[in-house]
Amino acid sequence: MKLFELSQEEIITKVRAAGITGAGGASFPTYVKLQSKPDTYIANGAECEPLLHVSQELMARYPELVVKGLLACMRATAAEKGVIALKGKYKESLASLRAALARVGNEARQELPITIHELGDFYPAGDEHVLVYEVTGRRVPQGGIPIAVGVVVNNIETLINVARAVEEDLPVTSKWVTVCGAVKRPVTARFAIGTPMAKALELAGGPAVDRYVAIDGGPMMGKLVKDLSAPVAKSTGGLVVLPAENRWAELLSAPIEVSLKRARSHCIQCMNCTEMCPRYLLGHRLKPNRVMLEASYRELEAPHKFEMALACSECGLCEAYACPAGLTPRRVNATLKAELLRKGIRPSPVELREPDPARGFRKVPTSRLKARLGLDVYDHVPEFVEEEVVAEELTVLLKQHVGAAARPLVKQGDEVVTAQLIADLPSDKLGVPVHAPVSGVVTHVDDRAIRIRRGNG
Ligand code: SF4
Ligand code: SF4
Repeated sequence: MKLFELSQEEIITKVRAAGITGAGGASFPTYVKLQSKPDTYIANGAECEPLLHVSQELMARYPELVVKGLLACMRATAAEKGVIALKGKYKESLASLRAALARVGNEARQELPITIHELGDFYPAGDEHVLVYEVTGRRVPQGGIPIAVGVVVNNIETLINVARAVEEDLPVTSKWVTVCGAVKRPVTARFAIGTPMAKALELAGGPAVDRYVAIDGGPMMGKLVKDLSAPVAKSTGGLVVLPAENRWAELLSAPIEVSLKRARSHCIQCMNCTEMCPRYLLGHRLKPNRVMLEASYRELEAPHKFEMALACSECGLCEAYACPAGLTPRRVNATLKAELLRKGIRPSPVELREPDPARGFRKVPTSRLKARLGLDVYDHVPEFVEEEVVAEELTVLLKQHVGAAARPLVKQGDEVVTAQLIADLPSDKLGVPVHAPVSGVVTHVDDRAIRIRRGNG
């Protein structure tokens, strides 16, 4: 295996050159994670967002790439232990991964230092703080990241991209996405980066209702899509369609001013949001009921008074499941967080409380969450489409990652070939290069995106 012949630096260089970022939503450049020194490396296969099936499909179909990607990351960081964490209910993925561990171990002539951890079927099992605690028993500090306790976490598709980069020098040019919810034909398919969301929806047969909202990501943590011409990016994990009259869709669509007004008149300070909050249950000093009380009266004028909001993962459980009054503590927290970060306020170190003794009983089963949100009617395994889906014209964003935007290396009229480097940035800047997802002609370049028409123009 090539990965055993490479040095740590060579792996990190290949991962950066391939433009790999977290495929699970955060889109943090992966090469930066590989520069840290954890003792444990976790492959996050929890896929706890309802309705999404990308990680489950990839673990079942490409388990050797998952194992090799994890091994490459362990080698780059010198992590002693690797763990693939996935729900015990993903039987097919579990069987595939176990067989792959044996095969790759035989090929490498060694017992691999990788174990499988079976998670319960609750939400949000894939939240990094929750996952690290479930797998290692360690608690990531409030406002901190897993490396603070010697752990690095990567999403399954990210690890597959690492294996492809290390073994075959392949850059990231496509993204697996589940298109589901109120669509005629739910699918999990691989889209060329830059494919319009509308094309992804078309592959799924289009919306099954007249009035709908579309969500980029999972139904819990995704963002509303305002314009379906927006392109699939390296972090797009799902496209979920919900009828406009779905209660959850209505909550997501309401302006924040309405949320605050309702908080003032309807919040009964029952504390359900706090008692169900996964971060509070881990011992974080985050009390969404307090944030709601204060914010509804101060109208967000003094965000520095709400520093606890920075501990919120925006998992959405408080508003989707806990609040009996249909209020939106997550949205209020998210608004405050954005304001705090804009003002340069970062989390101050705080001592965690002991984990709540009731934590085990307060985990929310995914099936109950789906029923509460009216998503259970869409709970089907989407059809898997192997062949890559490519639109006639692609819009490739120059900033699909945390950090600085890449700078174009091509101009209008240039011909490009699949996987060609088309934008890059100096190696001392946080960020990753961008590659052409298809062969074709560059039709437009600006500081936001490069558009490419397939074929010869
Ligand atoms: S969204 Fe709500 S439940 Fe989730 S971490 Fe934030 S406050 Fe807690
Ligand atoms: S659960 Fe709802 S009503 Fe109860 S304290 Fe939280 S925001 Fe207020």
